[in-house]
Amino acid sequence: MRSEELLIQIRRAWIQAACERLASETDVRASFEPALERFYDLLIEAVRSDAPEKLNPIIDEWVEARPRSDPEAMQTSITPLFDQFLLLTYEVSLKLLSDREALELLASLIPIHTYTYSYAAKKETQAQIEQISSELESARLVLEQLDQSKSKFISIAAHELKTPLTLIQGYASMLRERISTDEFGRVESLLNGIDLGARRLAAIVDDMIDVSLIDNNLLALTFQPIWLNRLFDLVKHEFESAMKERQIEFEVHDFPGFREMIFADGERLYQAFRNLISNAFKYTPDRGRIWVDGRLLPGFIEVTITDTGIGINPEDQMRIFDKFGQVGNVSLHSSGKTKFKGGGPGLGLPITKGIIEAHGGAIWVESEGHDEERCPGTTFHVLLPIRAEPPDEKFARLFKGEETTSLKGEYKD
Ligand code: ADP
Repeated sequence: MRSEELLIQIRRAWIQAACERLASETDVRASFEPALERFYDLLIEAVRSDAPEKLNPIIDEWVEARPRSDPEAMQTSITPLFDQFLLLTYEVSLKLLSDREALELLASLIPIHTYTYSYAAKKETQAQIEQISSELESARLVLEQLDQSKSKFISIAAHELKTPLTLIQGYASMLRERISTDEFGRVESLLNGIDLGARRLAAIVDDMIDVSLIDNNLLALTFQPIWLNRLFDLVKHEFESAMKERQIEFEVHDFPGFREMIFADGERLYQAFRNLISNAFKYTPDRGRIWVDGRLLPGFIEVTITDTGIGINPEDQMRIFDKFGQVGNVSLHSSGKTKFKGGGPGLGLPITKGIIEAHGGAIWVESEGHDEERCPGTTFHVLLPIRAEPPDEKFARLFKGEETTSLKGEYKD
């Protein structure tokens, strides 16, 4: 007898046995039965036409039936069901068919079983991948929205702080002018305190504005001829008192390309390098060393800023370029731009990265790790393209995104 006829012969008993084994409660059994009947009929069809793919539709349905919102259900596989079906066929056919017929039937079912098994496994893996991708996509969207609201918050907060800050600075300077000479001695230190506080706050607000410009691709660059050696003369001058106070050696080496004229935004580059040097001071203990060096590469100048400071752990080396990406305990920060561990709000490096990237350059960090005893040091690398002329508008817009059409004509030749 042919295999499909044998299957037809044991159909009733098989379905009954499958219902009993797989669904213990009567009402569940009732709803299970039609599904089993459909499976069995498709199985007969598959055997008759020697086409195991006839079973695909029901396997697809069963795989899809697992609720996607339930991660546990998504983990459970339907493949053990097929093992049960094969075992049942064996048991039922042993009872109802001769040994030879039972063996023949089983032999013809094994290739189908292998097929259904691997097809279901493939479908389940696909469904899981789809599920994970969709979860990742939703997480990405949430993060994107968070980042947008963070950026919006920074921009609003910065602009809202700017007005009262200007008032404080204005009234402090009026007070300074109106106070008589005799009184001035008594209140001078108080007025200086207000000035210092207001200046620090103004610097933070400016950083917040810069970060929000960078986030929204609105950083306007004014390309002019600049020389890195002159720029670093100014940086060195700015840090002279910190060098003395902290007894830190700060050297700027002359390297090929250092004296070359390039087109760049001098003010913004100064801001970027000042941030890096200020960090080198902040994270290097007294009596340490900081040095600037570099090299000429085809089309680029690479500047390196190395310190003998506390270093940065490899796992933090990407994070520090994110806004508010400070590492370490914020409450332990001292204040100031050059004091040891004088942490700021964590905006310096994102601004520096934004400025360098807006120039078409790149920035990265190298450090063995963080160790306040051993001080393994840190090197920041800055790669700047050598431009013999200011970039044309199309090129500049490429670096700054679509919104920058308003920057038209802002480049000074
Ligand atoms: P902050 O305002 O905290 O200095 P930055 O964005 O300038 O913010 O730097 C982010 C973090 O990167 C710092 O909090 C510090 O942990 C780490 N960092 C930056 N430069 C150095 C350096 N030269 N050595 C060690 N750590 C550094």
